[in-house]
Amino acid sequence: MLDMCAFLKIKQIEETIVSRRYDIRKQFIQDSANIKDENSLRVISTEDMCLLLSLYDRIFFDHWFKECFKGKIKFSLSKRMTRSAGLTLCPKKRQPFTQEEFIIEIRIGVNFFFNYDALKGDKMVSGIKTHSGLEALQLVFEHELCHVLEFALYHKSSCKGKRFKEMAFNLFGHTESYHKLPTQKQIVYENLGLKIGDVVCFDFEDHKLKGVLYKINKRATVMVKDKKGLYSDKQRNRYSKYYVPLNALAKEEMGKQ
Ligand SMILES: [Zn+2]
Repeated sequence: MLDMCAFLKIKQIEETIVSRRYDIRKQFIQDSANIKDENSLRVISTEDMCLLLSLYDRIFFDHWFKECFKGKIKFSLSKRMTRSAGLTLCPKKRQPFTQEEFIIEIRIGVNFFFNYDALKGDKMVSGIKTHSGLEALQLVFEHELCHVLEFALYHKSSCKGKRFKEMAFNLFGHTESYHKLPTQKQIVYENLGLKIGDVVCFDFEDHKLKGVLYKINKRATVMVKDKKGLYSDKQRNRYSKYYVPLNALAKEEMGKQ
């Protein structure tokens, strides 16, 4: 049986990593109910994530997770993650806890993979150039798996740490701990020319309102000056908050008040 701590100290050969990743992709497309084309991801389910885990377990870890890992890995999918494409959440329990009590959650920011092609340019994940939404999902998943392993073996995990970086490099050839996938902010800026802090106009119940673009998510949050508003800034101006569909926003022209 694989001695995981020793295994993590061995650098896997680059070509082996690349071909294993490719094999996983091929098998995944065959077995997934949702993803049949690695270039256009529209649905990702938690079953897909379980499938990905079992493929990584078989192909990279010689069934270590299935046979030796006593904890539980849960998956969740989020459409609200704006910066991280993946997160590993390990509830802080009093140490030591038994392996059976070890429940860890991997959360995936699915929009990053649905919007993979929204912008042109290189899409690096963990220092590796990706070519499809599915490949990007794999790289993010690999990063989160390193967190799971680090939590399971050492009860703490940080991708800023030396131990994590070595582990991610040895296992998967990762050279960085972040992604450069298009964020909603970048997509809105490229497509609509809008960024946080811009003055924007939009129609609301037959009025044209003007406010400051405060947040960009699925919809934009716009703060509009309003004497009776619930929000205030440091200058004690009062504002009301509006959620506006992104395509309903127009940029206020400079000099036009
Ligand atoms: Zn991380």
